[in-house]
Amino acid sequence: MLLSRTPPQKDETLESFIIRTAQHNGYKEIDRFLGALQRLDSRQNSKVHSASSLKLLSINLYHAKTSGRSRLDFIRLFSHLIFEEAKSVNSLLLYRGREKFSGKYESVNREGDVYPRIFLQTSTIPVCTECLAEGAYIRQLWHFTPYNACHHHCRTLIHQCSCGHMIHYIKDQSINICPKCNEPYYQDEKSKAPSADLELARWLSGGTVEHLPDINKSHRWGILLWWLQFNHYNPDRYAQETSPDFILFLSGFPETFHHILDEKVNLAEDYSTKQLGALRFEDVFGNLLLTSTRLPSSKLKFNIILKYLISFFQDKFYSNNWLANLKLNAIEASILLNCNTQQVAALADQGILPIHNKRLINPLNIYTPAFELGDVFCVWMTKFQSEHSNLQVLTSKW
Ligand SMILES: [Zn+2]
Ligand SMILES: [Zn+2]
Repeated sequence: MLLSRTPPQKDETLESFIIRTAQHNGYKEIDRFLGALQRLDSRQNSKVHSASSLKLLSINLYHAKTSGRSRLDFIRLFSHLIFEEAKSVNSLLLYRGREKFSGKYESVNREGDVYPRIFLQTSTIPVCTECLAEGAYIRQLWHFTPYNACHHHCRTLIHQCSCGHMIHYIKDQSINICPKCNEPYYQDEKSKAPSADLELARWLSGGTVEHLPDINKSHRWGILLWWLQFNHYNPDRYAQETSPDFILFLSGFPETFHHILDEKVNLAEDYSTKQLGALRFEDVFGNLLLTSTRLPSSKLKFNIILKYLISFFQDKFYSNNWLANLKLNAIEASILLNCNTQQVAALADQGILPIHNKRLINPLNIYTPAFELGDVFCVWMTKFQSEHSNLQVLTSKW
């Protein structure tokens, strides 16, 4: 048993909780504390794997490349030693998620909320000094790059101590004291954070922000990631200067989105070198369908990007006939139908989904633009209505 025990905070990170527990028990070097616990585990359990191998920097479950067994064994032992129920410590874990945002970005999961892994901070982990003064522990949201301002204290998070040290509590093995100057972190600048940063922070934390869509938290992060891709920004290095543009886009949604789509349609009409009827979907809209799917789900009730992309085409079919003739490949058709490419091939085989050029089958390549947007729409409306993907969802705003 550990001599001194302290309960975890609900929004705390696992690493922060381990540091606090180690410090309360007299350990300054957290990795030595971890080593001591693991040696104890290997004495109690002869089957135990490589003792003393877990380091604080990689202890969280999402770092596990395979099963994560050693980390889970450690959490079990740790929970036992501090008299905490394993579930309360497990609730601090950041898991590797199954979902892939936009079909390619890995996710991490905490208590059912899904976040793009690409947003995890690497070089520094910023802090709010006022939060630290109220409770000296690290909040999970500080780990994500777009969360740049504390929505409780309306202050920009600080990345750097006044002595110049770049803050990273896990590498520093210290929560609120700078390892370089040994002083508590403090903020010179008392001014309020920019309003766009604050609105974004509040919205991403799951709070209500007037004029921003009220959807579930995971999809808020997914939509931000989608928007960065849509505007050719690098999600790997989130730039705070982009926050005002994102908030502007979102507060005027869906009109702002439909306006950009209209511009793409006009551009194709004015400058396309191909006949409009021969254009592929990607000629006009690039990889928009691929990036709009799975944010992190394709359920239209939450994925408002996919929902308003579909509603845009539904409206335009009446005025721009050529849009109905845009050519789609099997992957794009499967996104609209919310099924897999084998099911698309089966629909084509059965003659339910027409193939615009019969020479394109035998066998059907998933990258071949074999279908037309209008046909896929008809199949969706007649055969693919489900609870989360139906016309009814399209008619409500959020
Ligand atoms: Zn704060
Ligand atoms: Zn310092």
